[in-house]
Amino acid sequence: MSFIKAYDFFNIIKDILTYVLSDVSYLSDYCNKKEGIMMKDVKEVTFFRGDGIGPEISDSVFSVFSACKVPVHFDVYDVGQAEYDRHGKLIPDEALASFERTKVLLKSPVTTPVGKGFRSINVTLRKKYDLYANFRPAKSNPAVPTPFPHTDIVTFRENTEDLYAGIEEKISDTEMHSIKVITKAGSERICRAAFDYAVANGRKKVTCVHKANIMKLSDGLFLNTFREVSKDYPDILATDMIVDACCMNLVLDPTQFDVIVTENLYGDILTDLTSGLIGGVGLMPSSNCGTDMAMFEAVHGSAPDIAGKNLANPTAFIWAACMMLDHIGLSDYAAIIRSAIKSVMDAGVHTTLDIGGTASTTEYTDAICKEISRLMTAAA
Ligand code: ATP
Repeated sequence: MSFIKAYDFFNIIKDILTYVLSDVSYLSDYCNKKEGIMMKDVKEVTFFRGDGIGPEISDSVFSVFSACKVPVHFDVYDVGQAEYDRHGKLIPDEALASFERTKVLLKSPVTTPVGKGFRSINVTLRKKYDLYANFRPAKSNPAVPTPFPHTDIVTFRENTEDLYAGIEEKISDTEMHSIKVITKAGSERICRAAFDYAVANGRKKVTCVHKANIMKLSDGLFLNTFREVSKDYPDILATDMIVDACCMNLVLDPTQFDVIVTENLYGDILTDLTSGLIGGVGLMPSSNCGTDMAMFEAVHGSAPDIAGKNLANPTAFIWAACMMLDHIGLSDYAAIIRSAIKSVMDAGVHTTLDIGGTASTTEYTDAICKEISRLMTAAA
């Protein structure tokens, strides 16, 4: 072969390779664009799988995200008793490092082992990362009949202080003390979060729930701070109510409440009540936000009584995942998932036991995934 011919041959091979390779890269770009996903757009989120019903409802979230082709990569860790038995820590160091890196955590329920001096994993995470604003929305769903069909209450619960501060003291075998901590700074930021939410979401009223008639110093500080903060929000009606009266009024007429802001312990108890108004804890998601980190979870615990039986309602946890998607700027995907859940619940054929249905966790999840596929095909 002459030099010219060898040169031509080399160039022809080079052109073919260039063409083929550019076509491959074009094709992969095309596929990604067609899916609406470029690799650089995939967001990383830390995921704690938990125990009890945690793994079952985690699988529901994985299936739903996969059906919706959500551009999220979960960095998954097992936390809880099993992890403690394996490695001596309820939460592995790598899991915490992942949350510190991604700043966003989706956490399924975890059982805190009883009687070994363990501090609740939830309380630990909220304190360690100063996730001070616990947001818990309770909105009636026409598909879940209750005596309170028009409930629409969001509660802002202070997440780091109060009797959860973990300051307990044994005075003697027959006397134990637990210290309630309320600070002005802690009260101010949660009250501001509640008012800011009200303004941003067209809400009309914020009610501060307290027991300042008895705990004049601690709850008095919370209430006075609320009143001070309310002056910066003249368009929002600011009211307050003593916690016991609030319980009675919630079950007499929940529609008189709009946004509630309260301390840690009252918030814990009141939001189990508000979840009952809308059909149970299986339907209530929550977020725990600090200044730059956020954790999303269902309000319920690990439900050991139904764990491993394919009976758990994964709705609260999937909705928590949708709140997480809103937080990281993927609301379009959250909207599709919420819409699919609504269709499945409205149809009422594949709903779970806790809300009067007969479907298992997996049957309900499969129905949501099918509906997501239908919605996505219709939109294509
Ligand atoms: P924690 O103190 O961690 O909140 P808990 O023991 O008080 O936990 P949960 O684990 O939330 O309470 O369970 C309370 C009840 O609600 C149990 O009967 C449980 O089976 C039921 N339950 C909780 N979550 C669900 C769910 N996702 N689906 C169906 N039932 C649930």
